[in-house]
Amino acid sequence: MYLPLKEMIITRRTIQPHDVEMEILFCGICHSDLHQIKNDFGGTQFPIVPGHEIVGRVSAIGNHVSKFKVGDLAAVGCIVDSCGHCEYCQEGIEQFCDEGATYSFNSIDKVSGGYTFGGFSKMYVCNEKYVLKMPQFDDLAAAAPLLCAGITVYSPLKHWQAGPGKKVGVIGIGGLGHIAIKIAKALGAYVVVFTTSPEKVEDAKRLGADEAVLSKDTEQMKQYNRQLHFIIDTVSAKHDVNSYLNLLRHDGALVLVGLPPQQLEVGAFNIVQGRRSFAGSNIGGIAETQEMLDFCAQQNITAEIEKINIQDINSAFERLEKNDVKYRFVIDMSSLKSYDRF
Ligand code: NAP
Ligand code: ZN
Repeated sequence: MYLPLKEMIITRRTIQPHDVEMEILFCGICHSDLHQIKNDFGGTQFPIVPGHEIVGRVSAIGNHVSKFKVGDLAAVGCIVDSCGHCEYCQEGIEQFCDEGATYSFNSIDKVSGGYTFGGFSKMYVCNEKYVLKMPQFDDLAAAAPLLCAGITVYSPLKHWQAGPGKKVGVIGIGGLGHIAIKIAKALGAYVVVFTTSPEKVEDAKRLGADEAVLSKDTEQMKQYNRQLHFIIDTVSAKHDVNSYLNLLRHDGALVLVGLPPQQLEVGAFNIVQGRRSFAGSNIGGIAETQEMLDFCAQQNITAEIEKINIQDINSAFERLEKNDVKYRFVIDMSSLKSYDRF
């Protein structure tokens, strides 16, 4: 249960010397936005403005900005600040910053002292270091989900070396899962997807999967025992990971990117047998996000989207909660203009 979203007036911080202000054109709706408005993890600060798959056009820049000029296409994902000097920031994995990364919404903004507000809004302002350059995409709206869903699956696929000769499993065909299929295929892996939704079995093949399995079918599941090198688990709710750990080859890894609010149980024998790993991964750093955007533009990878107006936000969240979206909602922010008092 959560309160419906409604319009409100927010102010962005004054543009700092290294800040970029952008007019938001499109913003994706990620299941993490839904978790946050439901306060699934505790700690949500209300009022909240969700949205962290942000694509826009630069509308103003601070005096010292060198990476962008007014009129450039630009994008913001999950991270909008970090300490910059800890070993993780130095390594370009700002998502693990020692002082805690500042997220694009529901985080304390170190400059203003207030909470960050996300991309379901007209404008965004943050330091140019955390703003991505948007390569050429045929459909800019469909590229917005790459800013979270794209990097969240790209980073572990690269880290665990998905590629030719590797059999990769994808659990859950939602926003993250459907992009994982496309990126894993583009990296050269053989892709097997596992879905709870019968109607997605055929669709998975259209999205590029080599094989699609209805996970409720235990007989079919058994055929994949000890077959997969790597599995990426994008499921947003509590589920049995042990039945998937059994599908890993020796030294294989099941990597959780989904964030079920409840604890998951892992059986000792499911990982001890075969020296398997049960791992996790959190979005990706800024440099890797840029690499992913460039890779997706070159490979012509975007999300399958349903574009909505901001006025439809509450029904979109209801449908996302019911697993009724193929495969990502993206808000056309020009619809915000109809609120003439903003
Ligand atoms: P989504 O579009 O709702 O997709 C989740 C998919 O999981 C669904 O399409 C469904 O796939 C499957 N699923 C849902 N409920 C299930 C259940 N009870 N049992 C089994 N399968 C179920 O969500 P998303 O935006 O892709 O996000 C997925 C998760 O990743 C969320 O928890 C989100 O918060 C998290 N996330 C994590 C990171 C990170 O950095 N780690 C970043 C972004 C998002 P089928 O219909 O195919 O079964
Ligand atoms: Zn997200």
